[in-house]
Amino acid sequence: MARNKKKTNTRLTGRLVFPGNPSYNAARMEFNRRFSKFPRVIVFCKRTQDVVNAVKWARERGVRLRARSGRHSYEGFSAVNGGIIIDVSEMNKVKVNRKKMVAIVQTGNPLARVYRKLWDKRVALPAGTAPDVGVAGLALGGGIGLLSRKYGLTCDNLKQVKMVVASGRYGARTIVANRRKHSDLLWASRGGGGGNFGVATSYTFRVRPISKVSIYSIKWKWADLEKVLPVWQRWAPSVTNRLTSTIEVSAKQVGTIVSTGQLLGSVEELRRLIKPLLRAGTPVKVMAKTVPFIEATRFFAESDLNLEPKFKIKGAYGFRPLPREGVRIIRDYLSIAPNRHSSVWSQSLGGAGSAVSRVSPTATAYPHRKAETIYELSARWRNRGEQRNIRWVRSFRRALSPFVHGDYVNFPDLEIKNWPKAYYGVNFGRLKQVKRKYDPRNVFRFAQSIPVGKPIRKWK
Ligand SMILES: Cc1cc2nc3c(=O)[nH]c(=O)nc-3n(C[C@H](O)[C@H](O)[C@H](O)COP(=O)(O)OP(=O)(O)OC[C@H]3O[C@@H](n4cnc5c(N)ncnc54)[C@H](O)[C@@H]3O)c2cc1C
Repeated sequence: MARNKKKTNTRLTGRLVFPGNPSYNAARMEFNRRFSKFPRVIVFCKRTQDVVNAVKWARERGVRLRARSGRHSYEGFSAVNGGIIIDVSEMNKVKVNRKKMVAIVQTGNPLARVYRKLWDKRVALPAGTAPDVGVAGLALGGGIGLLSRKYGLTCDNLKQVKMVVASGRYGARTIVANRRKHSDLLWASRGGGGGNFGVATSYTFRVRPISKVSIYSIKWKWADLEKVLPVWQRWAPSVTNRLTSTIEVSAKQVGTIVSTGQLLGSVEELRRLIKPLLRAGTPVKVMAKTVPFIEATRFFAESDLNLEPKFKIKGAYGFRPLPREGVRIIRDYLSIAPNRHSSVWSQSLGGAGSAVSRVSPTATAYPHRKAETIYELSARWRNRGEQRNIRWVRSFRRALSPFVHGDYVNFPDLEIKNWPKAYYGVNFGRLKQVKRKYDPRNVFRFAQSIPVGKPIRKWK
């Protein structure tokens, strides 16, 4: 078979950036500046054939490869020393079919552009808040945001994926996975995580009509922590699924607690719904208003801008409200935070009629369907104090471990020993089988990639 013959004549196509090129430094950097890797070449692909050529080129030469879109991996998984980065960020077309309520979104799009392009047609996709996060990584790992409880995760709305996978000993080919063809790959692409099976170049999403939404923000002083957090934790998963909310408790040095949320409904209804929060502690600032949906996406994006350039984040899921001891742990750790950029953030996901919880844990590769909330414990810094910051967040997560479980694959953490269980739970076995089918030679691998499953013995 021709594709099994070793050739080294495939040429890279697309925009190529090699060491020595003036744009090399900017082209190689990850969003998390804790990582600084030096690839042999970065290919900015313009079309799917550029991706095919890049995968072939790497395989013919035995060069390690990484897929990259928005560069937001917490652990720098989309960069590689000495290898090739296959970057799709210049593949950013978006096409909306409002009759069928679907959108074809190339995987190089950052979220802000997806929201904008869909807003032009007054439709929306449930996705994340940060404007520069790539839709590629976000959707493959799940995709949580302010429409989650009503419309599910981003991956729940993924109907089709076009992916360049390895083929034969040195080749690559493009396949389309949907409900009818390669349905196992579609299943794995809905929560199985980025970089595991191939390079996704285009997604087809179900989209929803959208116009105005109502948003709120409530701020308290830090001293109200033990009053506010337990109330939010009981309220957020029990309120209507049209309302998804967050809470962020800052380091004591900053001294604030802020809850924000979005309702698919009127501001009058929102004001009624947030009453339990307003009665908790003494709010110092309250905002509630109705805005066009696109304005709401900008409002929620603001908290993700101007972050410190280096960070270590640990994620977890909450299946019930924290007991008093858990809230005390949060208070104690944020009292000794290494700097003012440390915080605990949480978002509601499940509970009362939530679209996230209605899906079975095995229906897609994303297993954490019964979680009520998700947490991020984060330490951020600029230059000095890396070890101190990492030690603090590690110890913090350990202290909370009796009360929270698992981790979101899009909040990857190299320190988790049993990461297959933490990210994938019951779905890990099936993911290994999908890996065996689509990437049996383990071309797409990195520190926490899904390993190739063993062949399943069939009884004769
Ligand atoms: C500031 C910030 C805010 C965030 N906010 C949210 C949020 O609101 N909701 C949420 O759910 N998550 C959020 N995240 C987490 C985010 O979902 C993950 O970091 C996600 O993996 C980022 O995808 P990316 O394409 O930007 O990153 P990349 O670093 O480019 O890729 C991430 C992973 O996906 C792989 N990958 C990239 N492109 C492709 C491709 N085309 N085909 C196959 N694999 C690919 C990479 O190899 C890597 O393993 C946030 C992260 C940050 C840093």
